[in-house]
Amino acid sequence: MPKSTGMEILPFENWFKNSINTPFLIAGPCSAESSDQVMKTARAIDKLNKVTLFRSGIWKPRTHPDSFNGVGVKGLKWMQQVKKETSLRTLVEVAVPKHVEQCLAHEIDAVWIGARTTSSPFAVQELSEALAGTNLPVFVKNPINPDIGLWIGAIERLLKEGIIKIAAIHRGFFPFETTSLRNIPKWEVPIELKQNFHELPILCDPSHISGNVNYIKKISQKALDLNMDGLMIETHINPSSALSDSEQQLTPHALDELISKLVIRKSSSSDVGFASLLDKLRNQIDSIDQQYLELLAQRMKIVEKIGSYKKENNVAIFQLDRWEEIIATRMDLAEKIGLDKEFVLNFLKSVHKESIQIQTKVMGNNNENTPRNA
Ligand code: PEP
Ligand code: MN
Repeated sequence: MPKSTGMEILPFENWFKNSINTPFLIAGPCSAESSDQVMKTARAIDKLNKVTLFRSGIWKPRTHPDSFNGVGVKGLKWMQQVKKETSLRTLVEVAVPKHVEQCLAHEIDAVWIGARTTSSPFAVQELSEALAGTNLPVFVKNPINPDIGLWIGAIERLLKEGIIKIAAIHRGFFPFETTSLRNIPKWEVPIELKQNFHELPILCDPSHISGNVNYIKKISQKALDLNMDGLMIETHINPSSALSDSEQQLTPHALDELISKLVIRKSSSSDVGFASLLDKLRNQIDSIDQQYLELLAQRMKIVEKIGSYKKENNVAIFQLDRWEEIIATRMDLAEKIGLDKEFVLNFLKSVHKESIQIQTKVMGNNNENTPRNA
């Protein structure tokens, strides 16, 4: 069920006059560094005729206090110049109400809330109040950790203040192990977010997911394949000299090349042949889903019987040998029939958890304090 706060998000196509949807693109440097860097980057991006919003970090939420923390208010003047000289609209990160005030004073067109800020309900509440009545579109990045509640909560706070131009940006989640990516995309999270807010535009920031230039195209394509509404890609006139996120920024030329290689997917197709084949395939899926759910129900009935049988014979529910045998044989089968092993393992764990739950009930131990999904 979609969330209801009384306010409805305005459909994305009504946000910006003359937006270019190839898809909807946001590009610009991680940070504004100098007037020269901002203007050269903006002019080169403008020439591509593919980008609607020009982004720049003005105040940077850096992990370490001695890192480059952004140029501050003088960068907003450069952004104003971008607006004057190019067809681009401007987008800046805000983290505290003062930032909002200064953005308004410099005619910034839209703001984004960074991952660290989305993680803090107090900060989001203060920002929402500062943004109320400004008509500024707000792009909300996902929180650092995959806690969808924080992301939903941030959007609800904005909606409650009457803000209706809200979009989300999936920028990946903090990895607890070293991976080739800087932040781990969890595509199921923005999908769940969309189920909560049907009108919410969702964009992807492949730059912060990737952390270097190697995976930006692949991540961007994945986002488009999932029907996301746009991309935010960090772009710098001279990435190697960048004061922040130097490894992940593209030149405007590389951005152009990357965009032209992306396959743009349509939300749907009006082609009759396509619709009828899709219908046929979906009917097959419906029938298969029905069959395995009925099989699962049968399985759980047997589990119940096993539970009673164990109870009568005073035998423990959990049997390590049996569980290991189930995993080994099913994983073997999964491999033979070409199913992803991790997917099958997760599925088995979920089935096993339910089986234990059912047997616990049969044994009469269902009033323990363990949450169902612990
Ligand atoms: C940024 O976009 O430069 C940024 C700081 O992003 P995030 O909040 O996603 O880390
Ligand atoms: Mn950055």
